[in-house]
Amino acid sequence: MLVRSLAFRLKDPLPNDAKFLMEDFRLAVNNAIRLGDHSNVTSRFALTKLAYMDFREEHPGMYAQHLVSAFEVAGSVLKNHRRRLRKGFPAQVPFIRRLFMKAENQAYKLDRVNGIIDLPIRAGLHIRLELVISDHHRRYLDDESLSLGSLTLLRDRAIVTFRKHPPEPYEHESIISLDTNERSLDGVLVKEDRITSVVRAEFPDVSVIQSAHHDRRRKLQKKKSHDRRTAKRLCAREGKREHHRIDYRMHEVANAVLSFAEERRSMIVLENLNGIKPHRDKKLNRRISMWPRRKLHQIIEYKAAWRGIPVAKVDPRYSSRKCPVCGRIQDSRKGTEFVCGCGWHIDRHINASINLLQTAASEKAAGGLWFSPGAFQHDVVMVLCGPGRAVRPEPNGTSGIRVMA
Ligand SMILES: [Zn+2]
Repeated sequence: MLVRSLAFRLKDPLPNDAKFLMEDFRLAVNNAIRLGDHSNVTSRFALTKLAYMDFREEHPGMYAQHLVSAFEVAGSVLKNHRRRLRKGFPAQVPFIRRLFMKAENQAYKLDRVNGIIDLPIRAGLHIRLELVISDHHRRYLDDESLSLGSLTLLRDRAIVTFRKHPPEPYEHESIISLDTNERSLDGVLVKEDRITSVVRAEFPDVSVIQSAHHDRRRKLQKKKSHDRRTAKRLCAREGKREHHRIDYRMHEVANAVLSFAEERRSMIVLENLNGIKPHRDKKLNRRISMWPRRKLHQIIEYKAAWRGIPVAKVDPRYSSRKCPVCGRIQDSRKGTEFVCGCGWHIDRHINASINLLQTAASEKAAGGLWFSPGAFQHDVVMVLCGPGRAVRPEPNGTSGIRVMA
């Protein structure tokens, strides 16, 4: 089952009854966390057995399903906590401060035409929440193949999850093979056994954003070195902003790639980034942090599954050093051009993508693909996604978005 969450703003302020319910919910979660931690249990079932009766006595009015959902939330919080402890991180017993509640799909109703949530609070008392609906929301609400999942209610918005069975991926008629780099996805489009063009999706601003935030965090730490708590808080805020901005860009890039693929009924070939070990050199490590690239792959894969676009992931070994024509493996991977003794020469990133394509072909992931890398016009470049238009200039001197030619 594929799941996607959609946030809706609420038309009116939250009614008081809902706030009381959320306070009770938070209390139930925190109680269950404490009890669960004390008795070493994390499953919803065990927590329900442990805490249900007591809490029921104190809050006889609360709708039973909400209470069970609170135990479910507590269980997952406890599991995360347990994992942190196992990894050796210092961790206090978690405590939920945020006012929220979660209802499973049997515990609320959503009028998908009018966008109104009906949420029972206790016997005989329901509240109605009117949602603000955009065209984007409308597409999900009107799509009958989507079923409703849980509802998470926050002070100012409601998050509804939509679920669907993954559609069968289409039979591909072409292939896009993409090599994932620090600032771009570079690759080729193959149609009828021929490489027809070079494709490229650029995100040069992502590394600019990353380094700007990194510098800002370092400055903050220096400035607030006398107050570690404030430093930590400010740095966390910086990190969150960085993630949001990069996330946004990655979604744009993924959408561009997927729409391109869908139009041509292409399969997408990507390198498998798992298993790529972090570099020894710490400084280099940060500069080419793998995080945005893994994130980009996750987004592409997830959205592709949702839209029924086939994706194959292949082992990237030697992809940056191998000549796809004669098969020779080079020692170095320096320079922007890949030049081989056999006469083959091409942009290094494009070369890597051709190698990925060959691996996919040999692994039959691409379904009996045959192509000859020798003959193609690499002057035809299709740019799927250029540098971001709506990116704020960086205020601290690193401004200016560098565009890769
Ligand atoms: Zn060669």
